[in-house]
Amino acid sequence: MDELYASVIVDISAEKLDRPFTYRVGEALREELKEGMEVLIPFGKGNTLRKGYVVELKDECAIEKDKLKEIADINRKAVGLEARTMALAAWMKKTCGGTLINAMRTVLPVKKKIQAKSYKTIILKADRNELAVMAEKLSPLRFAARLRLYRALAEADELPEEMVRDKLKISASVLKTAEKDGIIEVRSSEQYRTPSIGRGNLKAVAALSPAQEAVAKEIMAGAAAGDRRPSLIYGITGSGKTEVYMEIIAEAVSRGKQCIVLIPEIALSFQTLMRFYARFGDRVSVMHSRLSEGERYDQFQRAAKGKLDIMIGPRSALFTPFPDPGVIIIDEEHEGSYKSERAPKYHAREAAEYLASVTGATLVLGSATPSMESWYRAQQGEYRLFKLGERYGGARLPRVSIADMREELKAGNRSFFSDKLKSLITDRLFKGEQSMLFINRRGVAGFVSCRSCGYVVRCPHCDVSLTQHRDGRLYCHYCGHSEDTPKLCPECGSKYIAGFKAGTERIEDELKKLYPQARVSRMDADTTKNRDDYERILQAFADGDADILVGTQMIVKGHDFPNVTLVGAIAADISLYAGDYHASERTYQLLAQAAGRAGRAGKPGEVVIQTYQPEHYSIVCAASQDYESFYERELSYRRLAAYPPFSHMLSLQFFSRDPDAGMERARLIKEKLKGVAGDLVILGPSEALIGKLKDVYRCGMYLRHGSLDVLIAAKDAAEAAQAEICADPRSREVALQFDMDPVTSF
Ligand code: ADP
Ligand code: ZN
Ligand code: ZN
Repeated sequence: MDELYASVIVDISAEKLDRPFTYRVGEALREELKEGMEVLIPFGKGNTLRKGYVVELKDECAIEKDKLKEIADINRKAVGLEARTMALAAWMKKTCGGTLINAMRTVLPVKKKIQAKSYKTIILKADRNELAVMAEKLSPLRFAARLRLYRALAEADELPEEMVRDKLKISASVLKTAEKDGIIEVRSSEQYRTPSIGRGNLKAVAALSPAQEAVAKEIMAGAAAGDRRPSLIYGITGSGKTEVYMEIIAEAVSRGKQCIVLIPEIALSFQTLMRFYARFGDRVSVMHSRLSEGERYDQFQRAAKGKLDIMIGPRSALFTPFPDPGVIIIDEEHEGSYKSERAPKYHAREAAEYLASVTGATLVLGSATPSMESWYRAQQGEYRLFKLGERYGGARLPRVSIADMREELKAGNRSFFSDKLKSLITDRLFKGEQSMLFINRRGVAGFVSCRSCGYVVRCPHCDVSLTQHRDGRLYCHYCGHSEDTPKLCPECGSKYIAGFKAGTERIEDELKKLYPQARVSRMDADTTKNRDDYERILQAFADGDADILVGTQMIVKGHDFPNVTLVGAIAADISLYAGDYHASERTYQLLAQAAGRAGRAGKPGEVVIQTYQPEHYSIVCAASQDYESFYERELSYRRLAAYPPFSHMLSLQFFSRDPDAGMERARLIKEKLKGVAGDLVILGPSEALIGKLKDVYRCGMYLRHGSLDVLIAAKDAAEAAQAEICADPRSREVALQFDMDPVTSF
């Protein structure tokens, strides 16, 4: 029998991964030993037995065999945080591909020292009643930022300056003024301080509505009775899902457990944060993209040492090393940001499900527009399903209408806006209320094409169509390449070469012409180049700096604008042409979420959906707020086409510098895959949607099968074939990545 060697690390940490020790694997353990297992190894001069973890198995080793020690035994009863972390990494490697070491890099935080930093805290000095009187006197439009500060201080005695800056978007000058006026004091300390709600300001815990209480009780009772299935709360916007989460969390914390709450970063509002702080105080920590690696590591350490009960954050907060997690919440579970865009491309929902299964934690998913996957699982009884169909306090849902743009055109209306939308915009301008107009341009940029021959101008490096900007030039959104717009078609010489007319800039231009007196703000990829731009523009809009906000789909997500009473979807059907099987689901979710934006604070809202396909069920169901009908229709389409959730898809992605090396490799591997299962569907290989990016050629291949295990076997076979080909020194350089159940097209 061939020799077998194991790379072993003695400590679970990102740093040790780079320096594993090699051990021989004796005959007795050869069959049983797997990557990720906890083993006992003789270590150091005295050969004392230590715990270690196998991160790689290999049958060759550069070191002389006699110089290596042998693994003493497998620890078959491994429990605890380290074993759990290893198991999670092993799960990730198995389902997402790549190496175990790479998976471990994903689940382990890198140890970094926090750089000595001084943290500023805003402390309320003025009397709270006085503050209320002052707030009364401020004009909400002229002093929006100051008012925001006062309102926040009415809820808290102390706020970290970072949060005031980031989440409340309050500038240094506003703080200076407030300090000078004796309203606040700014204090520095070495330690980050969480918000302090302050004496006498702790609100009694909100009493749940009967509907909320029923959901919380049933979820907890089920878990207590040993029902280990995840729960899906399908609750409309504003139905109070967060209150239900907090109730379940409080119960788990009272039993000495810890909780993880995943929230898409952009949906994490100041109000939501304060609700958590008000209830759980400084036992809550928030992970956000502004934390340095050192601060992140420090938060993880605090969690491991039992100093925290609750971690709130995006995807990676799932890897918080809590000793005994009792509850995992995933809010807005349909969000695409839960899927990692870097290898290993894991989905936080799947990873959470695995983690819940090994820790016994209760997993709760929530959304107003659940993903097809979760909804289907709930229908199948794999998830428990709970519904919250009413807005808390009886707030009304907006009125939604559809404008048929084909009819508008027939009637001679050639503008972007239907008559209905125009009259409603006028009405809102008159009443001093705000409007939001969006166009979903994902994958449908403002390209330039020839109407004679169909030629489209593309980027020579990235193979995406170029976008025409206001200066008349063409730009690549990926690499920034720019060139003049051709006057004649380079392909056929025709002069009918022009831009496709539907982009945020053009909509803004037309608005300005129609409503010269209106203040229009725009948010799209061009106006949000810096990290802060997104929130800055939204905050300015919330402050009343503009009457109309025009933007891409990004303006729709997760924000509350009390004064927005009109939402318009400019060309709602564009996203239906996105060319992958999620198109209808995305369109529906976007329109339904958009409808949830309008009129949340007592003022009734209105939504206009403009479309060239008014009869499409995504649009009809979103307009009538008929969520369940949409899911029925979409499920039957998926079933017919054998798309997920009725199957699983695995995307194989090939990257090469050589234009045809990737295709060639894909074909070679395709041959090897034919033996995996007779009914394995193999699509492609074909050039990727973006065939070339930054001078790297990309092509892909899709596999489809009803069983996840078959696809995992196919992935393993592809990895083995790839390793074999790469071992040949004559092979050309091609990288291979996997994406199991991809949520974006490649
Ligand atoms: P969702 O997350 O489902 O969109 P939220 O949990 O944010 O809904 O609740 C919507 C609004 O209703 C919030 O302002 C919240 O404070 C309020 N609310 C919900 N439930 C209660 C309750 N039981 N008592 C008081 N206010 C509540
Ligand atoms: Zn042409
Ligand atoms: Zn480019």
